[in-house]
Amino acid sequence: MNQELTIPIKGMHCASCAITIQRTLKKADGVVSCEVNYGNEKVKIEIDPSVTNVKELSKKIEPFGYSLKTGHTQGEDTHQMHGDTNTQLHDMNGMDHSSHLGIGQSKEDKLEELSAQRKKVEFVMPITILVFVLMLWEIASQTFEWVPLFFIPHELFQIISLILSTIVLFWVGIDFVKEVVIFAKYRVANMYTLVGIGTLTAYLYSALLVLFPPIKQLLNLPDMVYFDVVIVVIGFIYLGKFLETRSKLRTGEAIEKLLNLQAKTALVERDGKEIEISVEQVKVGDLIIVKPGAKIPVDGIIIEGKSTIDESMITGESMPVDKNVDDKVIGGTINKQGAFKFNATKVGSETLLAHIIKMVDEAQGSKAPIQGLADKVSAVFVPIVLVIAVVTLLVWLIVGSQFMPFTEALSLGLLCFVGVLVIACPCALGLATPTAIIVGTGKGAENGILIKNAESLEKLHKVNIIVTDKTGTITKGEPEVTDLFVVNDKFKENNYALKILASLEKNSEHPIAQAILNKAKSENIELIKVSDFEIIEGKGLTGKIDSKEYFIGNLKLLEDLKISFNSSDITKYTEQGKTPVILTSKNEVLAIVAIADTLKENAKETINELHRLGIKVVMLTGDNEKTAKYIAALVGIDEVIAEVLPNEKAEKIKELQSKGNIIAMLGDGVNDAPALTQADIGIAMGTGTDVAIESAEITLLKGDFSKVLKAIKLSKFTMNAIKQNLFWAFAYNIVGIPIAAGLLFPIFGILLNPIFAGLAMALSSVSVVSNSLRLKTVKL
Ligand code: ADP
Ligand code: MG
Repeated sequence: MNQELTIPIKGMHCASCAITIQRTLKKADGVVSCEVNYGNEKVKIEIDPSVTNVKELSKKIEPFGYSLKTGHTQGEDTHQMHGDTNTQLHDMNGMDHSSHLGIGQSKEDKLEELSAQRKKVEFVMPITILVFVLMLWEIASQTFEWVPLFFIPHELFQIISLILSTIVLFWVGIDFVKEVVIFAKYRVANMYTLVGIGTLTAYLYSALLVLFPPIKQLLNLPDMVYFDVVIVVIGFIYLGKFLETRSKLRTGEAIEKLLNLQAKTALVERDGKEIEISVEQVKVGDLIIVKPGAKIPVDGIIIEGKSTIDESMITGESMPVDKNVDDKVIGGTINKQGAFKFNATKVGSETLLAHIIKMVDEAQGSKAPIQGLADKVSAVFVPIVLVIAVVTLLVWLIVGSQFMPFTEALSLGLLCFVGVLVIACPCALGLATPTAIIVGTGKGAENGILIKNAESLEKLHKVNIIVTDKTGTITKGEPEVTDLFVVNDKFKENNYALKILASLEKNSEHPIAQAILNKAKSENIELIKVSDFEIIEGKGLTGKIDSKEYFIGNLKLLEDLKISFNSSDITKYTEQGKTPVILTSKNEVLAIVAIADTLKENAKETINELHRLGIKVVMLTGDNEKTAKYIAALVGIDEVIAEVLPNEKAEKIKELQSKGNIIAMLGDGVNDAPALTQADIGIAMGTGTDVAIESAEITLLKGDFSKVLKAIKLSKFTMNAIKQNLFWAFAYNIVGIPIAAGLLFPIFGILLNPIFAGLAMALSSVSVVSNSLRLKTVKL
């Protein structure tokens, strides 16, 4: 069986690194598919473990200066393709949470990298600023008479500059130099190569002039050296890199917050004694005691006591939830006042929290379609820029020398050569999409909006029709029995009709069933045994009690059974927006129950807001048409498609799509699965405990309709940020290169000093990442 792994990569510094690594790994034996993401510096790879392994693969990219993180054993970093990670997680005491939950976070490494970078920044920045100021001074003293001339003797200054730039280039900038060596050896280039070639050229040229003055006289070269360029370019780019690393750590904060939700210990009852154990040791079936104020360690069901629980960290809903015996609790949420005991039903990687973390982690590592463009550009950018730089130099030498002495053309040409290499570095381009996706999906998770991948987040902003189920989305999904009309007198005695109804509905998951069961419970009705139970899709159900056959369902079911009835008995309910549920034997109507669900408080508001965004709302339901229309009118829904069977729901969506609409389908994920899949975006409404992560692109935890609006807004904000990022990254390169090449020089006498190219480059990366981080603060 193939294995799908997500492995952190060391040594990446730009988007073209991602391309080189991806190309190399794809070619390796035993690699089925592979996707490298510069945003989180990880590779998602599917391999045949009988052919290759992580160590092997790492060796393939090591010559180019990268490596795969092999420190962990295979099992921890990986998850089997279709299996689960449950078994391997129990015996991992003392492991940090990320590995406990099976996602290879590499935060420690990042922090180490950051502190190494900080040291270099602290060394290089004062020098950079000093040199920058001196350089401005020099320019000023040449331009304005009142600025005094330079105070350090020329020769001495050049020697000091030589020493400083040597340290800066070969210590702080050693990664850039290394890339030049790798380029010379393997012809593999990335953005660091550009900076490396640029600064090394400036350095070597200048060093030659300073160390061997006769050359200067022999060739009659102008007395210009470029140590300042070396120092300032490396200084600024390195500062930019440092800030980028720091911000990138922040983009991953959402995952970290989720990881921190995990309780560390659990109080369990074993052999009648309370003992505290680490959460990794909790097993399914353990009896767990939760005291007031404590964190709930794993998922389970309350068996004793009651309480109020703050679930906001998981569902994004700020109101605490009352919980009683038989209610589900979620690991990572916080108990408020009461104390209770619960039975652990899900532990380790099976818990809801673990699923959420894994999903967010995977989404953050996935690629948005819009990134394809940036990737394509990055892939060809580096070689093209190298060519442009060389052409620039040649043009200066050939054409420039017609207008000035050759040596001066050489000196200026070199400056332009370096400038082009430095400014063209498309670092910002590689950061534009992934950073926004990481922040966007993280923000979603904080609001109880789980997004499966970047593609879904991107698609969502184009949606123009939302198709929704009725129960649980527009209405609260807690329907109540309002009327019980028993037709057959024999069934009136001892509440017999209700007894039959409830006993049968006990086997159904439909919200209608819950309403009927609640009613029976409040009347203290004891349930009786049912045999031959069967669900009749989209119509109701059937079963035998005391060897007599019964059916419960809607009008469609009556039609199927060819049972005649008095239609006014039913319309009197549908006209009030109630759902009629009919109990029949094989040939006659026995009783009619009317069920009503209250509207969600904010349904109308949300629909209004969606209309404002130009989005149409369609209700698609299996319920009675009159009932559905009544409810739809109350909340302002544009169109109602009622009385459809589950398998027809997907057809209806197809119909809407064929008219050019982009559809998001909102459903409970159970019998709506085909429709969710058919829609452009399937949005599942989680009940807050069981998440239909598989069938939907987006899952709303404990959702109501207003969360759809939030999800759409999030998508729009994220896409805007990405577009801004891409625009700035591109614009800056497109404008920067010709200026750096010296195109403005013949006309305006303007030449871009590479120092400013370095500054601009650092700024662009930082501004792209900051723009993505800004997403954290937008209000959904
Ligand atoms: P929806 O989720 O839109 O209600 P379903 O396909 O789940 O659509 O159900 C369609 C209709 O079938 C319901 O509106 C109801 O009339 C009937 N039905 C389904 N399940 C039950 C049940 N357990 N008891 C009674 N009626 C049911
Ligand atoms: Mg349904």
